[in-house]
Amino acid sequence: MNSKPMILVIEDDETVSGFVCAILSANDYNPIKAVKGKEGVALAASHSPDLILLDLGLPDMDGIEVLKTIRSWTQTPVIVVSARYHEREKVEALDLGANDYVTKPFGTAELLARIRNAMRQYQRGKAQEMPERVIVGGLEIHYEKRLVSVDGKEVHVTPIEYKLVVLLSKNLGKVLTYDFIMREIWGPYANEIESLRVNMANIRRKLEKNPAEPRYIVTEVGVGYRMVDE
Ligand code: CA
Repeated sequence: MNSKPMILVIEDDETVSGFVCAILSANDYNPIKAVKGKEGVALAASHSPDLILLDLGLPDMDGIEVLKTIRSWTQTPVIVVSARYHEREKVEALDLGANDYVTKPFGTAELLARIRNAMRQYQRGKAQEMPERVIVGGLEIHYEKRLVSVDGKEVHVTPIEYKLVVLLSKNLGKVLTYDFIMREIWGPYANEIESLRVNMANIRRKLEKNPAEPRYIVTEVGVGYRMVDE
């Protein structure tokens, strides 16, 4: 039996899928591929892969629809692959439960890092629903004590800042879209993008040695924020 992690590649461009499958095989994954959306959904159901790479531009079915269908029965990590002109779909996919994205053209190292990251998130999610605290490098968030500290020193944060830090830390490694964050913090009808920016800038000033080159919370341009996982 093949115990290597199975990755389903749903991609209609044979050049891209050939390249991706070669990289995956060379890195100890077991790739299987689908060229159409319907076939991808069928393979996701029949093979229950460990991760799915989903191209958003498919010939028969919108990639977003493929994602919704897959998400109706499984939380298997999904990384969406999008062309640069698919910005809006990329954000929509993340809001619908995709774990991460890569933009074409992408490099081998980036693809592999995102795959490892998404698998780690998934495993962590399964192992521990609610840890007592999260530690990333020198940053510690202690949920029970409601404490944020950096390098052992407590950092004073406002209630909104605390909520934001907790939200990001509970989704370690995962990019959270602006809309998702605003909904979670300010509710479904809020449009608080300016407040979000201001609060994030304040959080960075408090947590980061160099806020211009953040170590803990990075910006995904045009998409949202991510708390790094290592
Ligand atoms: Ca395509």
